[in-house]
Amino acid sequence: MAKDEEISCSFCGRKRKDVNILIAGMTGHICENCVAQAQDIIKQNGAGDTSHKDVEDGYRLYKPQEIKNHLDKYVIGQDEAKRVISVSVYNHYKRLLQKRGKDDVEIEKSNIMFIGETGTGKTLIAKTIADYLNVPFTIADATILTEAGYVGEDVESILSKLLQSADFDVSKAERGIVFIDEIDKIARKSDNASITRDVSGEGVQQALLKLLEGTDVNVPPHGGRKHPEKQMIKVNTRNILFIAGGAFDGIQRIITRRLNSSAMGFKAAQEGQGEKDNVLKYVSPQDVRKFGLIPELLGRFPLISHLDALDSEALRRILTEPRNAITKQYEKLFEMDGITLSFDNEALDFIVEKAVEYQLGARGLRSICEAILNDAMFELPSDKSIKELKVDLSYAKGKFGKSKISELKVA
Ligand code: ADP
Repeated sequence: MAKDEEISCSFCGRKRKDVNILIAGMTGHICENCVAQAQDIIKQNGAGDTSHKDVEDGYRLYKPQEIKNHLDKYVIGQDEAKRVISVSVYNHYKRLLQKRGKDDVEIEKSNIMFIGETGTGKTLIAKTIADYLNVPFTIADATILTEAGYVGEDVESILSKLLQSADFDVSKAERGIVFIDEIDKIARKSDNASITRDVSGEGVQQALLKLLEGTDVNVPPHGGRKHPEKQMIKVNTRNILFIAGGAFDGIQRIITRRLNSSAMGFKAAQEGQGEKDNVLKYVSPQDVRKFGLIPELLGRFPLISHLDALDSEALRRILTEPRNAITKQYEKLFEMDGITLSFDNEALDFIVEKAVEYQLGARGLRSICEAILNDAMFELPSDKSIKELKVDLSYAKGKFGKSKISELKVA
């Protein structure tokens, strides 16, 4: 056998003493320099990047109907939003397949903006799609950008989170999905430029615009300034799909006014509350602009879709139907303690009724269930004799009545 000092890298010939690591193979050795170089070659050829290959092979190019079918398992109602986003995602990933050079038609990005009350499923739709496609996903709150004002660390921090969710695989992150929540909160306060203009809102919109346009952004690793010594990571946003969501409180009035003044006339739309779900259906970029988003930013969201307010019928379905329905989650939790949990219909109706009465929406369903089941979840794991819990109306009423939620005043 060769003596240690005689061994050298079979690729570059460096001697043992000139390198830190020398890995032995069946017939030779390789040093750390050559390993790094080989990895670069693999990266450049895309061979090591399996996610990219998946897209190339069409493996991940799910058809709009497949995406919609998947969404249907998790998201109740919101048909229009689900259809629009299914097409948008399909087109987005088709766009990534486009070989530049061969093709001269440039497909533009299909970022999408969701308009609908809080808790109607905007984030849920975005997250469900990202999970399905197995692409990195992150949620950013547009209001955090307000605090910093102009472009700065915060825009980078959005990408930093995306990078984390891609396990720092830059090429994967560059094909991820970013959900920007509360986009309506960075709107200019007034459409009328002569009245006190909210310039900061506009500044934040400009900052966001940079991100949406497709630029190289230097992202600090691990999302912060804590490691200044670490090298910045360059992330290009060209192929990141942005989904924005907001409640746009008051946009109904803008829509109604526009509809009323249009030639067709729009009698049904009243400025009253009761009509607001119907009116959102007619939302147009023009209305969002009037609400206070700058045209440049709007231009980056070619698709605008609405989400319906959830009525009691929808809430009732949300409680039991989706794959991860709340009742199913509790049944699972109890099952893990060997207890069969069930709800009867009257108890379920009661939960929905309270969510509506206390104006808690879909998020409230969980809090109400929690209030009803908390005692049982505390006591039953220590009580080996109980194997079954049937939640009926009187049980639900009793436990809810004692909870903190029941003391909440409805505004
Ligand atoms: P937002 O519209 O504010 O983004 P989310 O998507 O975060 O609302 O919804 C909050 C929670 O309410 C979800 O995690 C989900 O449990 C439930 N939910 C809301 N809308 C729906 C829906 N259409 N179908 C199923 N669950 C829903």
